[in-house]
Amino acid sequence: MSTTAVATTTNGNASASVKLPIYMDNHATTPVDPRVLEAMLPYFKNHFGNAASRNHQFGWEAEQAVEKAREQIAKLVGASAKEMIFTSGATESDNLAIKGVAEMYREKGNHIITAATEHKAVLDTCKRLEKNGYRVTYLPVGADGLVSLDDLKRAIDDKTILVTIMYANNEIGVLQPVAEIGKICHEKGVLFHSDAVQAIGKVPVNVIKDNIDLMSITAHKIYGPKGVGALYVRRKNPRVQITAQIDGGGHERGMRSGTLNVPGIVGLGAACEIAMNDMPEESKRLAYLRDKLRKKLEDNLDEIHINGTMEHRLPGNLNMSFVYVEGESLLMGINDIAVSSGSACTSATLEPSYVLKALGLGDDVAHSSIRFGIGRFNTEAEVDYVADKLIDTVKKLRELSPLYEMVKEGIDLKKIQWAAEGH
Ligand SMILES: *Cc1c(COP(=O)(O)O)cnc(C)c1O
Repeated sequence: MSTTAVATTTNGNASASVKLPIYMDNHATTPVDPRVLEAMLPYFKNHFGNAASRNHQFGWEAEQAVEKAREQIAKLVGASAKEMIFTSGATESDNLAIKGVAEMYREKGNHIITAATEHKAVLDTCKRLEKNGYRVTYLPVGADGLVSLDDLKRAIDDKTILVTIMYANNEIGVLQPVAEIGKICHEKGVLFHSDAVQAIGKVPVNVIKDNIDLMSITAHKIYGPKGVGALYVRRKNPRVQITAQIDGGGHERGMRSGTLNVPGIVGLGAACEIAMNDMPEESKRLAYLRDKLRKKLEDNLDEIHINGTMEHRLPGNLNMSFVYVEGESLLMGINDIAVSSGSACTSATLEPSYVLKALGLGDDVAHSSIRFGIGRFNTEAEVDYVADKLIDTVKKLRELSPLYEMVKEGIDLKKIQWAAEGH
């Protein structure tokens, strides 16, 4: 499948040789770090025990490995090990946090607050609760992608039991003001859950400083394996209780039954420890690569813009709209680069991304948007290749675009009467 290419582009830059295709979609998932894999392997073979087996060494070894991982994960986010509940990933963690709090605190109230740009694991969970008699407020975001603290304050009422707002967005990389959100929640006696999947290991996260009561984590976005995650559940100030959503053997102090995925948990722990050690340097390197990509694109193309604020953002994220090119043609033109587009191609019809629409983008602009997720294993040569390829492709497509030509001739497209309006 992979080939090696020496890319020479019309910009005249010869990039160093890179392996194709290039993976630059690290918000969707990340490859397992070889150091993580190394840590996991013994737990498939020699140490295969069930961590709940109390009567023999096989069980004790597995349990020891699980408890070490719990420490590693807790340390990364300033929690204590006992506050970490293992799950199958962040979708489950989000469900457990939101449904678990909703059920547990039902007598106190039935109102939940979230934001329009949350991950589907949060939004669809909230929608489910709406069907079951809960009330949900979906806060809008500004063009910068941020929720307004005033909106949040206004939305909280005496029936509010939970605010769930993500730490970093998976499409636009924007970091919400979580510490301030948490502070407001605590002042009003409301619990605060944050889906921190994209943030942990990338930017400093601390559940105490950030005033977080429940927090979702997954391994496969931080160079760990798929299918394993954790939910942080605060044990003091306040002590948070949740109703279990999976019943069975009473694992994880009754909050989540099921035999623990020991190799996966070991991988999650190792991934957290590596992220903690590497974060200062890695985040600098990622920001450098991201800024280089941005600058190259901006220096060589007009009519492009960045979605969401650059000020509060993950270091490896860039989300850009390439106006006056058709989204699908753009993706086809860069088909040796794995990135995500502003279209959620989950259905037969291409739906524009609800996150970009929440920022106020029109459907066309959303479709012509690209999410670049630069990660640990991307090289500078890859970034150069991606930039050059995009510049080439966008220029070629615009040569074919009558709209772009009209804009260049100074015609205001908004003032044109089109023969057939809308579709
Ligand atoms: C990927 C992701 C999830 C889902 O995590 P899984 O472990 O794949 O279930 C939830 N929230 C955000 C923000 C994500 O990026």
